[in-house]
Amino acid sequence: PPPAGPLPIRRLQESLINRIAAGEIIHRPASALKELIENSLDAGSTTIRVTVKDGGLKLLQIQDNGCGIRKADLPVLAQRFTTSKLTTFSDLSKLVTYGFRGEALASVSHVAHLSVVTKTKDETCACKAQYEDGELTPPKSGQTADPKPCAGNDGTTITVEDLFYNTPTRLSALRNSTEEYARILDVVTKYAVHNAHVSFTCKKAGSTNPDISTPGHPSTTVNAIKLLYGGMISRELLEVNASGTRSHSSPKKKGKRKASDMNLDEDAIHEDDEEDEVAWKAEAWISSANFHAKKMTFLLFINHRLVDSSRIKRACEGVYNGILPKGTSPFIYLSLNIDPKSVDVNVHPTKREVHFLDEEQITDQVAGKLTAALANVNSSRVFEYQT
Ligand code: ADP
Ligand code: MG
Repeated sequence: PPPAGPLPIRRLQESLINRIAAGEIIHRPASALKELIENSLDAGSTTIRVTVKDGGLKLLQIQDNGCGIRKADLPVLAQRFTTSKLTTFSDLSKLVTYGFRGEALASVSHVAHLSVVTKTKDETCACKAQYEDGELTPPKSGQTADPKPCAGNDGTTITVEDLFYNTPTRLSALRNSTEEYARILDVVTKYAVHNAHVSFTCKKAGSTNPDISTPGHPSTTVNAIKLLYGGMISRELLEVNASGTRSHSSPKKKGKRKASDMNLDEDAIHEDDEEDEVAWKAEAWISSANFHAKKMTFLLFINHRLVDSSRIKRACEGVYNGILPKGTSPFIYLSLNIDPKSVDVNVHPTKREVHFLDEEQITDQVAGKLTAALANVNSSRVFEYQT
C-alpha cells in the first residue's frame, strides 16, 4: 500500500553517492579501459600493453612506458577532481582532450580494487599503491596504506580487479565476458589505428598470443588499418583532408561568404586573415566504391578521443548512397579536431553522444569532402578505362 504521508528525506551515505556517480562514468570494462588508455597516451607512452581476465570484470591491467606518476602525488591520485592536466578555469577551454578532469581513477576506485605501480625516470625504484573509495588502502591488514617501494620499469601499470564487485546489479547485467572482451578489443583496435606511432598489445591473462599487436613507430595509419582490419580494406582507402574557419566578420563584411566555408579560395582566406581562425580540421581514411561490407566500420575521434555521434555517422554513411550495393556499408576512419573553445565542456563526456558548436555545418562540409573524394576516384577510374 502507498505510504500514508510523505516519508522523511534523508541524505544517502557518502560511499553510496560516490558509487552511483562512478557508475555514470564507468559503464563497463571497455569504458574503464578507454579512460586508462587515454591516461597512458596523455603520459606520452609509446607502448601500451593490455591484459584482460574474464572480459575485464576479473582483471583489467594496462602497462605503459609513459612519464610515470611522482611518488608525492600517489596519496591524491584516486581522489575525485585531482588532475595534472588542468589548473585554472580558463584551461578548460584549452584542453585538447576533453577527458575526465580527474574523475576516471577516482571512479574506478569506487567500483573496483585499484592498484598502481609507477616509476618516473628520476626515481630509482618504482612504487606500488592500492586504493579503495578514492583513498590509499593497506594491501594487507596490519600493513600501512603508504605506497611501498618495489621493482618496476619507467612508466605506469594500472590494475583494476573485480570491477563492479560492490554494485551487484551492474555486475549481473554484464555477465557475458565474451561480449565484454569483444568491446575491449574494439576500443584497443580503434585507439591503435588513431595512434599508429604507439605499439599496442591486448591479450587474455595467461595467454602467450596477443589478440592485438601493433608495431608502433614508424607505422602509418594505413599500416595499422591493414594490420587490424585487413588488406581488403587497406588497399581501397582514400585519404581525405578538410578544414574550416569560423568567421568573426564585421557587420559590413557579413553576407560576403558563408561562415566556415572551406571552399574559400586562397585570396579570400588571406583577406580575412585576422578575423578567421581555423576552427576545425578533419583527417579521414575511407573505403572507395570498390569495397563494401555487411556492417559499417566507423571510427570517430574528436580531439583524439573516441566518441559516438549518430549524426556524423549517418552523414558519412549517406555519402555512399547509390555508390555501394544496397544493404552494404563502408569503412570510415574520421579524426576531427575542433578548436577546444567550440566543444561544450558542460556536456559531460560520458554522454554517448558528443556535441559541439557548428556541428551541423561541420558535418555537412566533411560529408561534402568525402563525396568529392569518392567522385574523383570514380571519374579517374572511368577515364583510365576509356583511354
Ligand atoms: P585526468 O586524466 O582527467 O587528469 P584521471 O583520474 O584519469 O584524471 O587521472 C588523474 C591523474 O593521474 C592524471 O592527471 C595524471 O597526472 C595521473 N595519471 C593517471 N594515469 C596515468 C598514467 N598512465 N601515467 C602517468 N600519469 C597518470
Ligand atoms: Mg584521465
